Amino acid sequence: MSTVIKGGTLVSSGGLQIADILIEGEKISRIAPELPGYRVVDASGCLVFPGFIDAHTHLEMPVSGTVTADSFQTGTAAAIAGGTTTILDFATQDKGGSLQQALDVWHSRADGHCSCDYGFHMAICDWNENTRSQLREMAAAGVTSFKCYLAYDALMVSDAQLYDILTEMKKIGGVLGVHCENGPVLDLLRERAVRSGALSPAWHPRTRPALLEGEAVSRFLRLAGLAGVPSWVVHLSTVDGLEEIRLARRRGQTVYVESCPQYFTLDERLYESPGFEGAKYVCSPPLRSREDQAALWEALSAEEIDLISTDHCSFNFKGQKELGLHDFTLIPNGMPGIEHRAAVMYTAGVASGRISVQELCRLLSETPAKLFGLYPKKGLLAPGSDADIAIYDPRRDGLITAARQYQNCDYSPYEGFKTSGSLRDVFLRGAQVFKDGELILPGTGRYLSRGQAFRSPE
Ligand code: MN
Ligand code: MN
Repeated sequence: MSTVIKGGTLVSSGGLQIADILIEGEKISRIAPELPGYRVVDASGCLVFPGFIDAHTHLEMPVSGTVTADSFQTGTAAAIAGGTTTILDFATQDKGGSLQQALDVWHSRADGHCSCDYGFHMAICDWNENTRSQLREMAAAGVTSFKCYLAYDALMVSDAQLYDILTEMKKIGGVLGVHCENGPVLDLLRERAVRSGALSPAWHPRTRPALLEGEAVSRFLRLAGLAGVPSWVVHLSTVDGLEEIRLARRRGQTVYVESCPQYFTLDERLYESPGFEGAKYVCSPPLRSREDQAALWEALSAEEIDLISTDHCSFNFKGQKELGLHDFTLIPNGMPGIEHRAAVMYTAGVASGRISVQELCRLLSETPAKLFGLYPKKGLLAPGSDADIAIYDPRRDGLITAARQYQNCDYSPYEGFKTSGSLRDVFLRGAQVFKDGELILPGTGRYLSRGQAFRSPE
């Protein structure tokens, strides 16, 4: 059975084109005007994107004595509702555990439950000879990207370990993303705050200052320069970090920069919200100043940022965020967002005239596919590519509210945000999984064994 998506405006980073897409089986078979098909989906007036890729999620993840509110089942259903047909989640090594154990655990949580396709990055948290020996096995299992943390006791590596891991990346052709905050120093700031009786969520951003992001970005990029490998800065949030990236690029280094919708649309004043409301926005890095936000928008317009992911890591306000009711350092870190990335960035970026719709496609689909070894299977509308398709209707405005979301979370940080347009239909490998704003075919997502990062054909 063939399907034709008719008359939509097809989007790529290179341009726009009004044409029909013929889907046969799981693939796009032709793109041309006036194609015949058994089943016709009218997309006239709509933007037709290659399914979006969210390269930074944390689903079903144990954190701070609790587990994220979204499982792989609910989180990937929410992803589809936002046009995201592929996620890359962070499998995370336990101290004392192996990479293979972490990969097995993440497969056991995800396999059979996902509504979108999924792959894993591997967070390296216990660097030793056994870990080193498993990197090639990870690559063989389709995990070609890795992550290190420069913060959080349970996760962080030392500078020497980070450098050692970077040199291994060069050998296996892997890419390393790094959470850039100076953990030991911000831990000290947090301890001092608590000792002085500063316990409200307002102290979350005050104890994670921008300078400690800039410092860690600088350290990471200098070590990557020394190792001679490309680097991936995850969730950039500050102009301070951005300046360090510019400096590294001027030295001739390849730096891939990721940021997230929350750093473009929400700011640190939200931590001053009445009562315990500020806890809803506790994530790390924290929401930043309006000056940081303006600098990130400028960088986005200037194509200095390569991909927008969500860092989706959801906790309910009731019962989970409330763990830190009397001490902000006990608030689980993270916010929901997997469902609303495209609509938020379309509204704040495209509809407001800051970036083009082609640019949005580059940030949400094309670059993540290229960086993480999925292109041109994903990230592109072309014959031979997977028929992963997100149809966005710019005429049908939406409203973000927790009362009507697929995310399994009792709030949204974007509550009341009016979107310019909304997702209408989504196809995953040729099957319509989302229709007129409703998920109609859950649970058909597949594991993606990925090729070498950065090395995909142009
Ligand atoms: Mn992080
Ligand atoms: Mn994260």
